[in-house]
Amino acid sequence: MAEIAAPRGTRDILPDEFAARRWLLDTHRTVAESFGYRSIETPVFEATELFSRGVGAETDIVEKQMFTFDDRGGRSLTLRPEGTAGALRAVLGAHLDQSVRPVRVQYEGPFFRAERPQAGRQHQFTQVGIECIGERSAGLDAEIIEVAWRFFEALGIRDIRLQVNSLGSTEDRARYRAALLAYYTPLEASLCDDCRRRLHTNPLRLLDCKRDIALVERAPLLWDSLDASSREHFTAVVRDLEAAGIDAIRNDRIVRGLDYYGDTVFELWHDTLQGAQSSLGGGGRYDGLAELIGFPATPATGYALGVERILMVARALGTVPAAAPAVAALVCSVEPAQAEDAASAARALRGRGVRTVLDVTERRLDRKLRAAGRIGARVAVIIGENEQTEASAMVRDLDERSQQTVPLAELTETVLRILGAVA
Ligand code: AMP
Repeated sequence: MAEIAAPRGTRDILPDEFAARRWLLDTHRTVAESFGYRSIETPVFEATELFSRGVGAETDIVEKQMFTFDDRGGRSLTLRPEGTAGALRAVLGAHLDQSVRPVRVQYEGPFFRAERPQAGRQHQFTQVGIECIGERSAGLDAEIIEVAWRFFEALGIRDIRLQVNSLGSTEDRARYRAALLAYYTPLEASLCDDCRRRLHTNPLRLLDCKRDIALVERAPLLWDSLDASSREHFTAVVRDLEAAGIDAIRNDRIVRGLDYYGDTVFELWHDTLQGAQSSLGGGGRYDGLAELIGFPATPATGYALGVERILMVARALGTVPAAAPAVAALVCSVEPAQAEDAASAARALRGRGVRTVLDVTERRLDRKLRAAGRIGARVAVIIGENEQTEASAMVRDLDERSQQTVPLAELTETVLRILGAVA
């Protein structure tokens, strides 16, 4: 029968990779917690409407990239393509914003998009993110950007290029839409198919076009449509970032591929990754999303970062810490007659926090010792007939190539001393 492979666009995370991933996720959680963000977890599938109404029916994500299916009752469900709509639904659904505002939450987990798989683009990928829900303030926009910045610093990733922009208010965007229509309508015949459609459905999306780049470059600038208070909000964000020692580059072309954003939007780029995949993540303010998904109007701001891409950068820069050996000790018996003594010695070691593998095979002793080296154990504990009779164990230091026989009562202290855990 044919071997079954992992589905296209997915990857297995094998043990060697897992330690680096854990380091990244733990670092994110620790940094977010240092700013008062608490962890949440939401379902990996949601009602399809959450995304078609929240992210926007005309966006690439909803139009082309969702894994959608019907449950047995005929309700449409979707594997979550992003985390903000679900996190907001969870926080507002539980009324967390009624006791404290803003509510600060952080999350990590799998997300799903049916994009053409390539380096840095998978069908299943992992994001870490934070959401700050319940207040409208430039200070909070700057805060979430600072969390991301400190996260990259903690990972040892420098040279992040922070791109920020303002999408302004609903009125600003209506003005901008009119400006875009005035610019694009006379050019309609020369537009690509996607852009002709966008012209009638969602003109802001015209700026996402990767084909007519020259047209995009000459298009009107959103900044010119912003009113004084939108500009003031944006200027305050940049001022707060400067005060935090964070360099922000204003980039008029950052519009983000999701409809729910307004005012501040940003992306974090790194040059190690090329082209469209240079974005490690992004986010912004989404004051309008709560109402789109049926809740009272609630201002909020947040970001999401792609874990696989960040790991690619960290690996390229060599900032991933060396993984600690998974195993410190291997315990084995010389013959099956000592198997129980070996098992109880292994238990005693684990009880003192020593990562211990019990070799239960009936292989020859030299094979068992070779296996100990291969799994990275520093110490081998061997119990043969003599040791069994004397209630002792042979302890071999595999690095120093020395060995000693000690009473079982002193076994754990001896092993801990070799491992350097006891002076
Ligand atoms: P977005 O919500 O589209 O801005 O995505 C935020 C980040 O998630 C991106 O910058 C990527 O790092 C990551 N990401 C998004 N889509 C994918 C994907 N299909 N495969 C891998 N990472 C992705």
